[in-house]
Amino acid sequence: MSGQNGLTHRQPPVKHRLTIHFPSEAVHQPITYRLAVDFDVAAKILRAQIAPNRSGTMVVELSGDIDELAAAELWLEEQGLELDRALGEIRIDRQRCIDCGLCTSVCPSGALSSGQPDWRLSFDAQRCLVCEQCIPSCPLEAIDLVLTGRC
Ligand code: SF4
Ligand code: SF4
Repeated sequence: MSGQNGLTHRQPPVKHRLTIHFPSEAVHQPITYRLAVDFDVAAKILRAQIAPNRSGTMVVELSGDIDELAAAELWLEEQGLELDRALGEIRIDRQRCIDCGLCTSVCPSGALSSGQPDWRLSFDAQRCLVCEQCIPSCPLEAIDLVLTGRC
């Protein structure tokens, strides 16, 4: 599509959050590089874990053109990776939370914050990337992921 100034307007990138499960033989694949070069899809790694058996799990936010995203996700599955598109949301158990603020230090989006005047934990669900980094950070297990559906 061209605008009045003759420049091509691109659609804003679509974002998909995925949990990718890697079999042990695929852990060292340069996934983010291939997504960028072959599909023009940016992959922001929100969390990555390698299990003792060397299989891996990565929570990523993919962004790009909707058709390129679909092609990229198909390619990932063809590589033997399992994609989990389950949607979830973070819930804070206010009965357990003691407003220690530890979780705010690991939150990459600022969804969790605390500050003056009362230093109470504040959670902004609109900013939450559901990267799950806050869950293990809470010493009182007051943070949980609640599954809400699939995309
Ligand atoms: S899941 Fe937790 S750490 Fe990640 S963005 Fe949401 S509130 Fe922040
Ligand atoms: S780490 Fe747990 S107890 Fe501390 S502020 Fe966060 S949710 Fe509350």
